[in-house]
Amino acid sequence: MKRSRFGAKFTRESGILRLMDDLGEAASADAPVLALGGGNPARIPEVESIFRKRVRTALDSGDELERLIGSYDAPRGNREFIEALARLLRNQFGWNLADSNIALTSGSQTSFFFLFNLLAGRGEDGCRRRIFFPLAPEYIGYGDVGIEPDMFVSRRPEIEHIPPDLFKYHIDFGALSLGDDIAAICVSRPTNPTANVLTGEELSRLSELARDRAIPLIVDNAYGTPFPDIIFNDAEPVWDENVILTMSLSKLGLPGARTGIVIADEETIRAISTLNAIVSLAPGSFGAFLALELVNSGEILHVARRVLRPFYERKSRQALDWVRESLKGLPYRVHVPEGTFFLWLWFEGMPISSQDLYERLKARNVLVVPGHHFFPGLDEDWRHRNECIRINYAGSDSDVRRGLDVIAEEIRAAFL
Ligand code: PLP
Repeated sequence: MKRSRFGAKFTRESGILRLMDDLGEAASADAPVLALGGGNPARIPEVESIFRKRVRTALDSGDELERLIGSYDAPRGNREFIEALARLLRNQFGWNLADSNIALTSGSQTSFFFLFNLLAGRGEDGCRRRIFFPLAPEYIGYGDVGIEPDMFVSRRPEIEHIPPDLFKYHIDFGALSLGDDIAAICVSRPTNPTANVLTGEELSRLSELARDRAIPLIVDNAYGTPFPDIIFNDAEPVWDENVILTMSLSKLGLPGARTGIVIADEETIRAISTLNAIVSLAPGSFGAFLALELVNSGEILHVARRVLRPFYERKSRQALDWVRESLKGLPYRVHVPEGTFFLWLWFEGMPISSQDLYERLKARNVLVVPGHHFFPGLDEDWRHRNECIRINYAGSDSDVRRGLDVIAEEIRAAFL
């Protein structure tokens, strides 16, 4: 087959494809696989029962199911859900937004495909523009969504060592000279893969930088506040007309419903609606349907704060304890876990690359994600990116425990 440039770029091997393939293989493998790799959230019975009840009610009441599956939503997404969300955000946080500031997509991954390609690449004026990630490592899913080559640029962090075995990345504001070719600044908060949470101050400095250059600040809130609120400190949600805030129902427990939310200025929202119409006619209706009542009543905030957050905070503390037990005596460090359901492990001076480590672990049926995929737009050679791995601790406690023991064995062997 003779492929277009688009075809060649979007069908080659990529980090996100490997991660999602691993996830699919793990689900259907004959031998038990310890899936500490992809981004599946935990199964939390208290949350699952809410959605089960919602489906049952729809089945039992008139033609609700038929109305759900029998028609397309508008290209901007389900109107009732958008109205309810706008109301909730206005009442709860005083944000000055209307329905016209919100659009739904078929998942945040789709939101990023739209947003990055909307803003960066070759412009109508002939200039090439890029998306700027001020703090690499950043989310693996960003790096491959650019239709044009070379659409991303990022900066290494400052590293703070926190004895005895933790570390924390900080934005190196001194190194953030933004060229005229920067179309938007983008951060995930909390950050996937590191579990870092940018402080309010860091965020307002980025916001100021963006405003000064009349470009948007994109904040990827897939794990953030107010929902799913998988964040272990008191970070405040932020939005204003210069911020493009992306949210998702995936980490609330609905990754299969593929529902992303974009909150932005009206022009951006109109563009997202148009892209939805062209690419998929309309986003799916199912996620909005499942979450509508929770948003209407505001209960979504309580479910996030009272159920999801403590659940993941406990899992995070436990995973860290197990890392400390399993890897005792080995040269490991863990990024301070402030949110998400990942631990980002750093093996300084590791004689093999994180890709080799990934392969050795995969051969033993333990899946992780090698660190080098998380540096979109970082061109310089930096050993650190081959010394880290990301593990997901949302799975069963026994799988996480056993997985960490295998990781420790392979690390010990690598350093021998
Ligand atoms: N952004 C971040 C930081 C993520 O971790 C993910 C998924 O893991 C996404 C975006 C995409 O999420 P979804 O497309 O399921 O909404």
